[in-house]
Amino acid sequence: MSSAEEPKHKNFITQIIDEDLASKKNDTVVTRFPPEPNGYLHIGHAKSIVLNFGVAEDYQGKCNLRFDDTNPHKENEEFVDAIKHDVEWLGFSWGDKAYFASDYFEQLYDYAVELIEKGLAYVDDLNAEEIREYRGTLKEPGRESPYRNRSVEENLDLFKRMRAGEFADGEKVLRAKIDMASGNMNMRDPTLYRIRHGVIHHQTGNEWCLYPMYDYTHPLSDAIEGVTHSLCTLEFEDHRPLYDWAIENTSVPSRPYQYEFSRLNLQYTVTSKRKLTQLVEEGHVEGWDDPRMPTIAGLRRRGYTPESIREFCYRIGVTKADNSVEMGMLESAIRDDLNENAERRMAVLHPIKVVIENYPEGQVEELEVANHPQKPEMGTRTIPFSREVYIDREDFREEAPNKYKRLVLGKEVRLRNAYVIKAEEVIKDANGDIVELRCSYDPATLGANPEGRKVKGVIHWVSAQHAVAAEVRLYDRLFNHATPDAASAKADKPFTEFLNPDSLRTLTHCYLESSLAKAKEGERYQFEREGYFCRDATQAADGKPVWNLTVTLRDSWAKIEQQS
Ligand code: ATP
Ligand code: MG
Repeated sequence: MSSAEEPKHKNFITQIIDEDLASKKNDTVVTRFPPEPNGYLHIGHAKSIVLNFGVAEDYQGKCNLRFDDTNPHKENEEFVDAIKHDVEWLGFSWGDKAYFASDYFEQLYDYAVELIEKGLAYVDDLNAEEIREYRGTLKEPGRESPYRNRSVEENLDLFKRMRAGEFADGEKVLRAKIDMASGNMNMRDPTLYRIRHGVIHHQTGNEWCLYPMYDYTHPLSDAIEGVTHSLCTLEFEDHRPLYDWAIENTSVPSRPYQYEFSRLNLQYTVTSKRKLTQLVEEGHVEGWDDPRMPTIAGLRRRGYTPESIREFCYRIGVTKADNSVEMGMLESAIRDDLNENAERRMAVLHPIKVVIENYPEGQVEELEVANHPQKPEMGTRTIPFSREVYIDREDFREEAPNKYKRLVLGKEVRLRNAYVIKAEEVIKDANGDIVELRCSYDPATLGANPEGRKVKGVIHWVSAQHAVAAEVRLYDRLFNHATPDAASAKADKPFTEFLNPDSLRTLTHCYLESSLAKAKEGERYQFEREGYFCRDATQAADGKPVWNLTVTLRDSWAKIEQQS
């Protein structure tokens, strides 16, 4: 992880900030993160959060959390709370109060009146379809609305009556009077206000039936809050002239500037709130916090740490280049973190029982083992050893070539942290499936090989009578296509066609070492030789605790992709 002293961000944006501070254009740095509360935050938002809050931290400035709540139709309080929780969990603080664009509705209304008075805004009676028609195309200029030249007095009167609720939805809008022939479509008299009756806004209730548009609200809110650098994604580049227009033509208290960076696209998933909403609403996933979702809530439940997500954001950097980041980048950030910081445990995911016939019945030895092989400071714990243990089905073969370093019938293997055992006999059921292994152990091999004895293979195990029964959920990529959006456009099929049907494999009969009986929600461990796992908050249908695979020990996908 990056050291505390060095600034975490160095990119074209911090370069601009450095210049602005050097030239005294600004004497402090104020940024903002402006989510719309119409869904949960995803990994793309994390990039924006880490940038906005991180830059503010680096420059001892501040970053406001401001809900962009101008479209009450799809927004609600659940999303507001989830967003706050996620930003906090990522390790950032927005000071004593979260802001809402709706806090400024009254001020924004006054600025609109100011625009009308200056002859820079007018009430239009064209309906949505007509407005679209009049707007023209990229090749053809637009046409002016027949209502464009209403007098200031008439506009003021109509605008007041729009607010008072005298007109129906869509009957009138307020538009900026800019330039219907502009080469930039956003400047062809964009709509500033629309009428929405009958929706209860989560902050302002039914106080308003008149709602400002994002492109109008955003710059003015920035200016009201004294934002200096308004950082947004590249799709807003064409909106910048409108951003500047709104600020330059109203008597706002400060002059923010907008800068754009490229959005994060992550392979094998989607980062569009609309699509994520669809996955949730159509039941393709369990919910916004399904561990396969690229949401912050999903990643948290999957076992990601806030540190790993921040580190991932630093590693991908901030540029203007279009990009599609490999899932392996995100996975290696959490793998690096947990490799350092997660304690080791033993867990058997596909158990077969091993009876050690020469081990005394009823005897239990408490073996002291290290919590982390390279970090003695992480301490030790004891694990019970007894006559019956579980090992993984994958760790036994009746016959195997010499390079198979696990248990083979008639041969020896070491049980990690314990004894060397030898497989003597295989017990099978009527179908030929293995029910049990009969083994012997060598009491002289506890913890180390006696001199001259070479047993190379080491496998993990848990004591059968002490083990905790658990359900383990193994996750794979949510989509089986690296760029589901592009694939869906190309094949003209819904993006859900590219969901990976094997993204969740549930193992219902796993056994964990007894120390995990007390593990709480969110605790993370390396299950030795298996991967990193995190205790889920929920229980399985049969009451067992649930553990989620966070990430495998190695990047198995890199290998697969190399081979293909
Ligand atoms: P919508 O499609 O609903 O507008 P959005 O993803 O833009 O969704 P917002 O809540 O408006 O969602 O986003 C808040 C902030 O997060 C914006 O400043 C936006 O630019 C930024 N953001 C959203 N998605 C990404 C992404 N994939 N990469 C980087 N920043 C993003
Ligand atoms: Mg948006």
